[in-house]
Amino acid sequence: MPQYDYLVVGAGLFGSIFAYEANKIGKKVLVIDKRNHIGGNCYTEPYEDYYIHKYGPHIFHTSLKYVWEYINQFATFNNFTLRNKANINNKIYSLPINLNTIQQVWPEAYNPQNAINKINQDKLNISDPQNFEEYCLSTMGKTLYEMFFYGYTKKQWGREPKSLPASIAKRIPIRLNYNDRYYSDADIYEGIPVEGYTAIFEKLLKDIEVHLSCDYFKDKFYFDTLAEKIVYTGPIDRLFEYKHGDLEYRTLTHKHHEINSDFQGTALVTYPSLNIEWTRIIQHKYFAFSKSEKDYITFEYSKEYNKNFAEEPFYPINDFNNNERYEKYRQEADKEKNLIIGGRLGNYKYYDMDKTIVNALDVCKKELAGK
Ligand code: FAD
Repeated sequence: MPQYDYLVVGAGLFGSIFAYEANKIGKKVLVIDKRNHIGGNCYTEPYEDYYIHKYGPHIFHTSLKYVWEYINQFATFNNFTLRNKANINNKIYSLPINLNTIQQVWPEAYNPQNAINKINQDKLNISDPQNFEEYCLSTMGKTLYEMFFYGYTKKQWGREPKSLPASIAKRIPIRLNYNDRYYSDADIYEGIPVEGYTAIFEKLLKDIEVHLSCDYFKDKFYFDTLAEKIVYTGPIDRLFEYKHGDLEYRTLTHKHHEINSDFQGTALVTYPSLNIEWTRIIQHKYFAFSKSEKDYITFEYSKEYNKNFAEEPFYPINDFNNNERYEKYRQEADKEKNLIIGGRLGNYKYYDMDKTIVNALDVCKKELAGK
């Protein structure tokens, strides 16, 4: 008889919510994570009177009331609202593109109608755009595309934008008003947990046995004997020993610096130009409205993930080939009745935190209801 009802592989958001909900109804749960901390990519560390987002900036945002209420059981959020900036040759533009940005590019485009006229003059007539680049050229025009998206997309995905699906570009807002909020108006809930993200995970995992620096694949056979069911939140291709081929991911590297001056006056600045290596710079104190004079900044670089190096697979590359390969793994996983797969890497989807919570609560409902 196995010792535990569930072995949860991964103390990230999906795994921790599953563990919390299972424990709440009296199930015996063991959580393991190969990292030396809980929280997965949401992990934050205290610094001065604010928190460092170690794996890249995390802003909680959602349109879903039940998700907001769920996460608020474990945290109090401040009212941070992301207003991104872009640095192009040391000129600062407002991002996402709004009337302010358009007017910075074309001074005569100071009202919505003039902005539409300018964009229309600049647009290429492509009736059925087939890729990211064609979609941008046919909607925002050449100037805005080349300034804000060509270089950034190439750096972020390591591919020519022509080879990326148009669907990625469809998410880019071009606003013909002065609304410079990064997220859509549908996301009525937004903020940063005032005690950092790690505190959320401490509460979720408070009554649960957790083993850190513990890699499931170091001894999969042994771990599988420990529990009735395995809840796996790592990369799905790794679970099946890459038998249908590798899924591709992008990873990030972060270079952190402590400084004694206010570096950029805001939380997040994007660098779209190809001649700058990094994609973004994060100044963490601005997520917490801190007045600290000690500043902590992080340069973010994007690169191809290589499973042979000690890297984290951050972003799935959801092109046709990868999605097809993922489906094969999914079918394989669905055949195993003692296996539950979830989260961003398990589902090979770019889930924001709210979508990860939706995924976790859906799985909990299916798995735990009536038990
Ligand atoms: P993860 O956080 O990846 O957790 C999986 C865990 O499994 C990890 O801790 C890993 O170490 C562990 N694991 C994997 N393999 C093994 C193994 N073999 N043995 C043991 N443990 C294993 N969302 C937002 O809503 N807003 C944002 O601003 C935002 N910014 C982001 C910025 C970046 C750079 C990234 C990468 C993501 C961002 N997200 C953001 C998304 C957010 O991080 C995810 O929604 C969330 O972390 C997903 O949780 P998860 O549990 O699925 O995955």
